[in-house]
Amino acid sequence: MNQELLPADISRRMAQLYSDMEKAYDELAQGLDFSCAGCPDNCCDSYFQHHTYGEWAYLWEGLQAMEEKRRETLIARAAEYVKGSERMLARDERPNLMCPLNENGLCALYPHRLMICRLHGVPSAMTRPDGKRLEFPGCFRCQELVSGREQVPRLDRTSMYQELVQIEMDWLGPRRRTLPKVRMTIAEMMVKGPPPDKR
Ligand code: SF4
Ligand code: SF4
Repeated sequence: MNQELLPADISRRMAQLYSDMEKAYDELAQGLDFSCAGCPDNCCDSYFQHHTYGEWAYLWEGLQAMEEKRRETLIARAAEYVKGSERMLARDERPNLMCPLNENGLCALYPHRLMICRLHGVPSAMTRPDGKRLEFPGCFRCQELVSGREQVPRLDRTSMYQELVQIEMDWLGPRRRTLPKVRMTIAEMMVKGPPPDKR
């Protein structure tokens, strides 16, 4: 399996954006003296859906680069996740299953992990295109750390979302308007295979 998923310039921009997110996160976490070390929880069991073809394809760039047997093992695990999460959703429960890419607490595709994996944790905010500001409190441990502070510093996600949308538009062009909307967990992206060829 070695199909080219993203044009080279788009793939480079995804890598740059992800690296910028990581840098912004690390700077804020350092300033707050916050880290995941010693945490009794693991956020990789949080249920998130993801919404761009760009992130889906970039995840698959990482999967494609893996040794085939390992990739198959992870995809089999993803299929179990999908079945389990569907059962929980049918019972009106929010799934809290471990991400199939988490191996002994570590991410098997760390350089290709998705945006929310990079931003969850610290307090953040974003301004929507309609001007509405949204705030995200960060994880429970970080909330405890900043509780009582008058001013809570926040990572501003706005320009990051804008670049993610811009990458999507530059890659897909007018097809973006007609393609089905993406709304998938990481496990679903893995089970479904790489996004269909967009050229
Ligand atoms: S983000 Fe917060 S809750 Fe999640 S593992 Fe790190 S410290 Fe724990
Ligand atoms: S992709 Fe990696 S960091 Fe993100 S939830 Fe899965 S194991 Fe955790």
